[in-house]
Amino acid sequence: MEGVIAGGREYRVREEYSRGRIASAKVAGDEIIVRLPVRASAGDKAAMTRSLLDRIIRKVNADPCYFYKEPMEFSEHSSFWFFDRIVSLPEVSYGRRSRTSFIGNTIYIRVREGTPSEVRGMVNKAVVKALKRNFMPLVEERVRMLDESSFRFGNWKVRIGKMESVWGSCSGRRLSFSIRLFFAPGKIIDYVIMHELAHLKEHNHSKRFWELLGSAMPDYRERRTWLRKNGNMVGPSKMHML
Ligand SMILES: [Zn+2]
Repeated sequence: MEGVIAGGREYRVREEYSRGRIASAKVAGDEIIVRLPVRASAGDKAAMTRSLLDRIIRKVNADPCYFYKEPMEFSEHSSFWFFDRIVSLPEVSYGRRSRTSFIGNTIYIRVREGTPSEVRGMVNKAVVKALKRNFMPLVEERVRMLDESSFRFGNWKVRIGKMESVWGSCSGRRLSFSIRLFFAPGKIIDYVIMHELAHLKEHNHSKRFWELLGSAMPDYRERRTWLRKNGNMVGPSKMHML
């Protein structure tokens, strides 16, 4: 499908299909992803797409910075900050089998030969997978430390997901964090972790919720403001160093 212009920027439109009945649209990097019920008729799908695009374009026009996030592209010979460390990605090698190893703070990737865009896709996937696998214990440790020094809730589970529209979420005892969060400075990561921990007790953003969070993190407002202002800059592509 062709692209659309929103907030002065061009977005590719990608359709995805789900078994559910609800249609939805979201912005992810330079794409607008429209999810449609797979069982709807072609005419209904077209109508849903039109109305969802109208609505999201209006939202993006109203606040372009809030919605746009650079796509998470990783290129060889680059470095980026991830969870307060500098992670390097040296030259990618090619072989019959793909393979990724994480040694020190360097990710070595071997992929199969392919067109430049296929290779980019494989490299992006491999990096995300390697980051999740290697940083998961550190993220859990960080959550444990923050919880133990404040609320002492315990009994939670942590997940790192690919969400692009939220930094974190809390459902039951499960705390989920977008992998994108960990490209932010440590103080901001801590804010989002504490925010989600506080949701274990207060499930919505009531006055009680902010009081609880404030009791454990008195300067949470500054961190929240930073994230609102700069969140759209958080990601690997702004931080090439080599
Ligand atoms: Zn919240």
